[in-house]
Amino acid sequence: MRYGGNTTCIEVRCDGKIFVIDSGTGARELGNLLMRESGGEPVEATLLYSHHHLDHVQGFPFFVPIYQPTSKLNIYSGTTNQGVTEQVLSAQMAYPAFPVGLDQLPSDLNFHIFSAGETLTFGDVTVRTCPLNHPGGAIAYRFEHRGHAFVQASDVEHTDDHPDSALTALCKDADFFSYDSTYVHGEEYERFKGWGHSTWRHGLDIAEAAGVDRFIAFHHDPSHDDAFMDGVHRDLQEASPGSLVAIEGMSIDLLSGSITTP
Ligand SMILES: [Zn+2]
Ligand SMILES: [Zn+2]
Repeated sequence: MRYGGNTTCIEVRCDGKIFVIDSGTGARELGNLLMRESGGEPVEATLLYSHHHLDHVQGFPFFVPIYQPTSKLNIYSGTTNQGVTEQVLSAQMAYPAFPVGLDQLPSDLNFHIFSAGETLTFGDVTVRTCPLNHPGGAIAYRFEHRGHAFVQASDVEHTDDHPDSALTALCKDADFFSYDSTYVHGEEYERFKGWGHSTWRHGLDIAEAAGVDRFIAFHHDPSHDDAFMDGVHRDLQEASPGSLVAIEGMSIDLLSGSITTP
């Protein structure tokens, strides 16, 4: 109830440019917000997929801008993902699963593929990428703009190469680093070892090795209720004061460092 029940959808705004990481069920609220803000003007956004697991794509049919003829979406995914984005989005909207097919959408959708590890440039915004250890593969993104950096790394499971050297390099001196903290270390993680997720303790190791300013525990297990998440927050604060547990609707201003929660 307090930490949020929607699945992954993160908006990254760099001046007038709108980026969206994944279209989990949170994409519905984001789509409504973008429509309200646009006031009838065309919505243009760049959608970057970490991977194609259901919790990261299922909000796409409910992202209202795709039904507007004036909307333009540039959709990116990495080759480490075995599925092709267009196929996955099309399959989940295919008859009889959904009444409108992907090919019937009036908006301008452009699909792009990059190699995991490639650096993408969008004007004055640099987006670095890094492959992650996850069933079927996943991609971490580092956004750099106006001297600040935000890294989103989910979904990922740590390996024996811990802290992961490539991910640590991606996080170097970042302002904020959001990491897959689905499980808590110890008995719970051991039970789900190999499922492709990690713990905040492993994320903190990376944050410390990379000199990250503030760590964010992200991708909560749906069976963890508010009381459990309060416990995670307490333990995380004790281990690393200033670290955050992601809350749905949380907004971070990288220029001022201010954080607002609903
Ligand atoms: Zn996944
Ligand atoms: Zn996931």
